[in-house]
Amino acid sequence: MTDTDGNPKASDWAPTSPPQIQTTEPTIARVYDALLGGKDNFQVDRDGAALYVKYVPLASQCAVDNRAALVRGVQYLARTAGLDQFLDIGSGLPTVKNTHEAAQEINPNARVVYVDNDPIVLAHGRALLAENNTTTVVTADFRNPQEILDNPDVRALLDFDRPIALMVVGLLMHFHDDELPDEWIRTLLDAMPSGSHLFITDFVDTGEDLQKAMERAGLESLGNGWIRTPERIREHFLGLPLVPPGLDFLERWYPEDPDADVPAVEDLEPHQRILMGAIAYKP
Ligand code: SAM
Repeated sequence: MTDTDGNPKASDWAPTSPPQIQTTEPTIARVYDALLGGKDNFQVDRDGAALYVKYVPLASQCAVDNRAALVRGVQYLARTAGLDQFLDIGSGLPTVKNTHEAAQEINPNARVVYVDNDPIVLAHGRALLAENNTTTVVTADFRNPQEILDNPDVRALLDFDRPIALMVVGLLMHFHDDELPDEWIRTLLDAMPSGSHLFITDFVDTGEDLQKAMERAGLESLGNGWIRTPERIREHFLGLPLVPPGLDFLERWYPEDPDADVPAVEDLEPHQRILMGAIAYKP
């Protein structure tokens, strides 16, 4: 299971069967990749991305801004919070700077497990991570959190007796409240010790037309992508304390410098008022 340094061997997480990639329906991972200007997508995904741009002309910028916030959050978790274990659920396709790169720049020993239910993420992640013994990618479903916790590759890399950063970034909008997604978070967090952190970004609903337009684009292209009130987003954190600056629009959210001079909410562009983020910790 491990090499001479005690690290799991890359071969341990090779899949047993080739992933099945369908190209007739858009997938969330590939539409997001298309919005980010990536190449790991098909015409059907580019059509989905075009629908987003039709309703929200700066939708690609929203995706770029979400990635920038992801990197800021990981930097906070690795540097300020001192975490060296990351469970990144709904990680998406590799892009410009990924969780393991942001974390390992700060702590080269940081361990990162990517979880996504789209097989294309595994296919591309394996290529990216072939040389990296402290990062892996697993195909599993957020809706079955126990399956994630029981996955041998997850267990091989992460020590659940030590604090873990649980990342649910750009993911919750894809589930309706009727599915009770907070219970999946609860199952994962319950398996993690004190000192663990939860990092979320999500689409927000503060009554603006462009927020509603983002939801409409998602529902028409992917069949999901709901917006939620800030109060409802706070509930995802299960009552855990939030680190400064708390829950805020991404353009105002700098957890490593929470007192930074940020624009007033009313001075943000409308597309900058579509996503909010926060990090909570488990006392
Ligand atoms: N977390 C990345 C970010 O914020 O940049 C990627 C976000 S992307 C919008 C959402 C990702 O969640 C996609 O890669 C999609 O395949 C994945 N996803 C959607 N439903 C999922 C599920 N039930 N289980 C695991 N991953 C899922």
